[in-house]
Amino acid sequence: MKQEKASILLIYTGGTIGMIENPETGILEAFNFKSLLENVPELKKLGYSVSTIQFNPPMDSSEMGPDCWAKLVRIIADNYNVYDGFVILHGTDTMAFTASALSFMLENLDKPVILTGSQLPIGMLRTDGKENLITAIEIAAAKENGIPMVPEVCIFFENHLMRGNRTTKINADYFNAFRSFNYPALARAGIYIKYDTNLVYRPVSRKPLKPHYLFDRNIVILKLFPGISSEVVQSILSIPGLKGVVMETFGSGNAPTYPWFLDMLKEAVTRGIVIVNVTQCTAGSVEMQRYETGHKLLEIGVVSGFDSTTESAVAKLMFLFGHGLSPEEVKEHMHCSLIGEVTIPDSWRS
Ligand code: ASP
Repeated sequence: MKQEKASILLIYTGGTIGMIENPETGILEAFNFKSLLENVPELKKLGYSVSTIQFNPPMDSSEMGPDCWAKLVRIIADNYNVYDGFVILHGTDTMAFTASALSFMLENLDKPVILTGSQLPIGMLRTDGKENLITAIEIAAAKENGIPMVPEVCIFFENHLMRGNRTTKINADYFNAFRSFNYPALARAGIYIKYDTNLVYRPVSRKPLKPHYLFDRNIVILKLFPGISSEVVQSILSIPGLKGVVMETFGSGNAPTYPWFLDMLKEAVTRGIVIVNVTQCTAGSVEMQRYETGHKLLEIGVVSGFDSTTESAVAKLMFLFGHGLSPEEVKEHMHCSLIGEVTIPDSWRS
């Protein structure tokens, strides 16, 4: 539903959408944001008031991290009362991490924050950037009875509006760069933008936005593979200052039961390191009670990440430890959905 006078803040951080090919080297380089807007004259036709802010210099999203996430939160918090919604143009490579982090950092969010980008620069004839940008702005402006349709941090990409902290980049070549395997799309854009309003996260009570800025980087991803050596596991678990491990396991949360492996994990848990079990599968949930190989992990104090994405588990651990929580408190919070990032099975709660 189009709101005639909606005001949108468009934040350009960088990424392919705003890049241009260097005619001499053939390498994609960032170009000025003004040129980006010149390449999308359609924006003026939308009838919204669109203001822009640009990261200077624009960044490839491989360079993004907690400092840039904090910068984005600061921009949103400083402008929160002035705009109806926010659109963030971001490189696709780490967009799912940024979307996850922002979802935790923007507590009590009641306005849309829509991230998008593109696989082809916006100046190219076959670009997917125009479509993504225009629809993301429409979604950020959409209201029903004066209430935003999607007051969440989302990614809009190739016709799908997805909860940001449920997304993963799945494709480096084609336009369907993102998917949310464990939570349905919040909206689909075709001739109309069809919202599935029942799926949208809505704050229980209206409270002022509470921006958060703190992260702890002492987190690691440990991806298991058949034949992983004790030296590798040992060196990861003995990283000085390490606080949290997102352990990517097999299937429904299974890992080898070699005594050296379980002993190392147990010793790390005893030292207060929080080990979160997420699956390497693109879809589905960790269920450590299902097989003996998973059950052993449960026994030694490994925490279930249920159906979290790796991106969301990493951002959540960084966020929780960044706020000074103890390992026990972090574990408790990992077993709760803070902002729709994880499905906690009923059997777990009872
Ligand atoms: N390397 C780029 C980035 O993530 C890729 C993209 O924008 O799609 O910044």
